[in-house]
Amino acid sequence: MRGDSVNDTIAALVDLQAIDDEISEYKQQRDELAGNLERLEQILAQMAEGLNEKRDRLAEATRFHEEKRVDLEADGERLNNAKKKLGTVTRTKEYAAMQRELDNLRKKFSDDEAELKRLAEAIAEYKTAISAEEKKLDELREEFEREQAANADRLGELDGTIAEIAKKKVQVIAKLQPKSLLPRYQRLLERREGKAVVPVVGGGCVGCRMMLPPQLYIIVQRGEKLETCPSCQRFLFYSAELAAQLASGT
Ligand SMILES: [Zn+2]
Repeated sequence: MRGDSVNDTIAALVDLQAIDDEISEYKQQRDELAGNLERLEQILAQMAEGLNEKRDRLAEATRFHEEKRVDLEADGERLNNAKKKLGTVTRTKEYAAMQRELDNLRKKFSDDEAELKRLAEAIAEYKTAISAEEKKLDELREEFEREQAANADRLGELDGTIAEIAKKKVQVIAKLQPKSLLPRYQRLLERREGKAVVPVVGGGCVGCRMMLPPQLYIIVQRGEKLETCPSCQRFLFYSAELAAQLASGT
């Protein structure tokens, strides 16, 4: 391979990495936006599910209350009958027994009545809480829909930008020699956190921070041959500009 074509290939790999860096930045923005919406949607779904459970419990409590109310009504009737019957009893012994029964019925009725009242109060409170939660959920849903609409525009823009940047790849890829470099590059990009081409600085690989053997470092500096890091397998390049920047501390 001639020196020129190696230089072109290294330059093409560096360009390709720069394009992929740019794409990855926009993709990150895109994923963050989409992720936020997804999380919001999940929260809303959980809230709706919680509300449904509460509505079920309310329905159950209301049924229970109705049962108790019917029981109380029957007890009330029993109590009235007992009162009427008491008026007709003339024998003392029987009267005393009836009076005891009546007292028991009165006590039970009044206890049950109080319990029913407490139950009705609890149900009313629960209803209020559920309405408040329903209102909150509606507000959140509206907010989510507004957010979703606004983000749909932004997501579309980001997708467009990503597609535009990706178009630049075609020309750069054409400069890669041999062609098998592209799949190697892609694999590295996937396996090495989106960094397939890294500079060498101060004798080390910027990708994995390993020091390179001095001989390899010199070859990379000269740019005569395309080399990879022995430790992380990333493509290596040397940038005099970057080295100067680092040396001057900017
Ligand atoms: Zn490395």
